[in-house]
Amino acid sequence: VQIRGDERRRRGIGVYVHIPFCRSRCPYCDFNSSEAGNLSGELADRYVACLLAELRGVVAREFTADGVPRLDTIYIGGGTPTLLPAGAIAWLVEGVRGILPRVADDTEITVEANPGTVAGPSLSAMRRAGVNRISIGVQSLDDRVLAGLGRTHTRADALRAMEAARAAGFENLSVDLIFGAPGQVMDSFLASLGEVTAFAPGHVSVYGLTIEPSTRFHALYGPGAARPTGLPVAPLPGEDEVCAMYERAVEALSSAGYAHYEISNFALPGCKSAHNTGCWTGRDYLGIGAGAHSYRSSPGWGRRWWNRTGAEEYMESIEMGGEARAASEELTREEALSESVMLGLRMLGRGLDAEAFMARFGEYPARALPGIGALEGEGLVEMRGNSVLLTERGVLFSNEVFARLLAVGL
Ligand code: SF4
Repeated sequence: VQIRGDERRRRGIGVYVHIPFCRSRCPYCDFNSSEAGNLSGELADRYVACLLAELRGVVAREFTADGVPRLDTIYIGGGTPTLLPAGAIAWLVEGVRGILPRVADDTEITVEANPGTVAGPSLSAMRRAGVNRISIGVQSLDDRVLAGLGRTHTRADALRAMEAARAAGFENLSVDLIFGAPGQVMDSFLASLGEVTAFAPGHVSVYGLTIEPSTRFHALYGPGAARPTGLPVAPLPGEDEVCAMYERAVEALSSAGYAHYEISNFALPGCKSAHNTGCWTGRDYLGIGAGAHSYRSSPGWGRRWWNRTGAEEYMESIEMGGEARAASEELTREEALSESVMLGLRMLGRGLDAEAFMARFGEYPARALPGIGALEGEGLVEMRGNSVLLTERGVLFSNEVFARLLAVGL
């Protein structure tokens, strides 16, 4: 979904901050993060100083003094942001708000937290610093599943983190759950989901485990993996079971009152992620930190750039020259169009807005993407007013829908 020029000017920007440190590496994860044990205060301070120096430089390069946009959302993700001491997070939040002083009243400020790295006092300190949303990587409330995923936290840690976040005053709480994990069976998944929905966080994200190249799981579970014998490696659930877990999650969360607003995301009224919704609807964002990506929708068909990935090389680049950009690219019309289609269709309640699409690309989706008719006939997409939406069945086959739409359309 793209937006008209005047609407684009009215919208603010989001800031994504990447914290590339984790206590230890989970064997399935390919995120940009390195093992930092208990991150030292000195390293945390050095990294935050670099983040703020980078943001000052990016804002000076990207905007004129009177054209600095409104700051709509801040999302501090990782990695494990909660390895930073709460004081460093407070310094970071205050620094970002100082560099982008046109702050919206309702600025959503999210911090991703891992159970086992947060406790009451640090959560209260973050809340006082203006953080108003915590996203907790619970993944499962079954200790066997957590062990199979190689997570260092337990069910008890996860429950404690959820309780502590609520006690610290975080009304806007998000919980991540995973399905398709080694040794996970339907009953275990539904039990975790049931406990989470009974706790009633405002937002729940449900992700299917994917086996990514260059992870330890790829060696264990990837195509053609030679499984070492004698190791207690739990099998992955089958494809049908994994699909059924997703379908049951959609049912359970819908009947508990959660709107299924994006393929993996569910929210109670008023609790959708404003930051991610902004990214999915084509809003500009600045990404700071190691490996972070940024996007500006104009001029032309848009532009993106990204930073050096290693924490040390990132900090050295900033300390030496104030910039850590690794590369940038101008989007072509085809790339901008593909991105609009994929992001728009992911937004399940609103879909791809035909009028906004027309305003940006000069033609309606039905003409730009002739595959829509066949997909509609197969019940994978539907037209609702001017919008094109994935159907419930289409959500299950979303990758196929995107591939067919874009292969035919471009
Ligand atoms: S804690 Fe999160 S980011 Fe860190 S290694 Fe594990 S899954 Fe990846």
